[in-house]
Amino acid sequence: MERTFSIIKPDAVARNLQGEIMAMIQNAGLRIVSMKMLHLTKAQAEGFYAVHKERPFFDSLTEYMSSGPCVVMCLEGDNAIQKYRDLMGATNKDNAAEGTIRKKYALDIEKNSCHGSDGPDTAAMEIAYFFNALELVG
Ligand code: UDP
Ligand code: MG
Repeated sequence: MERTFSIIKPDAVARNLQGEIMAMIQNAGLRIVSMKMLHLTKAQAEGFYAVHKERPFFDSLTEYMSSGPCVVMCLEGDNAIQKYRDLMGATNKDNAAEGTIRKKYALDIEKNSCHGSDGPDTAAMEIAYFFNALELVG
């Protein structure tokens, strides 16, 4: 069993797609072991994406991530990190495979509907950024 961290990003919540995306996650065999809805501040979005702070898209990305509510989740399952990366599809929807969340719902490379951790260390950090141990109920 492995855990990963997921965000349904503001572009998807604004279009009321939370349920559709959660269904895709659950149909892929992942279990939601914690979940909440948040409206991040710019500073909270900057903290979450600190690894990208030197990138040219950082300011725009953190503005967008704090522009409206999002849904944060901890997901659990066999090979959860890779399984969820595969379900999301490529960062740029133009490169995303058919049947992936981003192929279906992303608007552009920034407003790409979902986030998923890229490895075990980032998964642990990202889960801890949003949830305490008592909130993880799997
Ligand atoms: N992003 C962007 N422009 C880019 C690359 C990334 O706006 O050229 C945004 C996009 O929302 C992406 C996030 O920054 O999901 C984090 O980028 P990363 O390379 O970690 O992609 P991911 O792991 O989300 O596929
Ligand atoms: Mg990433």
